[in-house]
Amino acid sequence: MFFGKRKQIVEAGARHNLSLHCHAETVKIVPYLNYFATTDFSPHRHAAQSATDPLYEAAATFHRFSSGRRVRLGSAAAKPRVAFSTPNAKIESSDMPNLKQLIREIPDWPKPGILFYDITTLMKDQAGLAAVIDGLKSSVNADEIDAVIGIEARGFFFAPTVAHSLGKGFIPVRKPKKLPAATESVEYALEYGTDKLEIHKDAIHPGQRILIVDDVLATGGTAAAVAQLVEKLGGKVVALAFVIELDFLSGRDKLNGRRIHSLLHY
Ligand code: AMP
Repeated sequence: MFFGKRKQIVEAGARHNLSLHCHAETVKIVPYLNYFATTDFSPHRHAAQSATDPLYEAAATFHRFSSGRRVRLGSAAAKPRVAFSTPNAKIESSDMPNLKQLIREIPDWPKPGILFYDITTLMKDQAGLAAVIDGLKSSVNADEIDAVIGIEARGFFFAPTVAHSLGKGFIPVRKPKKLPAATESVEYALEYGTDKLEIHKDAIHPGQRILIVDDVLATGGTAAAVAQLVEKLGGKVVALAFVIELDFLSGRDKLNGRRIHSLLHY
């Protein structure tokens, strides 16, 4: 996070009243943003450059939010809420509160005391869905991973699309008795009792590098269990990416310093 004195803000002044909080690395993406604003979009050129240039990739993500306006440097303003990151660049966008507005909050569901974050309202918004997929995708470089795992059920909303956009395959981790071939399983503790998740034994080969995707990181039990499952099969967990992280539940403590990217924090 970049809250230092030298923080600058790039104002895109766009549809979402965007602002981009910068440090030295992120200032480098300004020329890219202005390039996007003045050049017709070419999917072919975009794919080629995205694959080799993390700064370009980061700028393209931000450009989606800024509706293609030209960018100018200004003075620091509001606090950023979230960071997009690539290995070489981090973009912190105060547009994220707008994504939060797209998430419906349902109190006392599925049981009293739980505030449920309903992402279906975010997913049906085209710009919201695009922002989430881009954000999850930018948690890794394509050449760092071999496959993307999604966790049943809401991880399935995002993981296959993220896998496709990284040029990788998708592997499902499912609830018991859903997978037809031989499975490996892991049991993990819930608030009351235990739960179980399964993966096909031949889904991961030893040494394969995996990105795990789910909608919410809450207590971390589910994600930690899936990481264990990957490692049981000899795979390597490169990173875990979530749309939402519930900071007050300290789920990342269960993930023992693993690389975690959460787009939104509550
Ligand atoms: P946990 O194992 O506690 O990290 O729980 C993670 C799983 O539970 C995720 O797959 C989420 O789909 C779901 N989940 C937990 N808490 C919430 C919540 N407040 N709103 C929506 N989904 C949640």
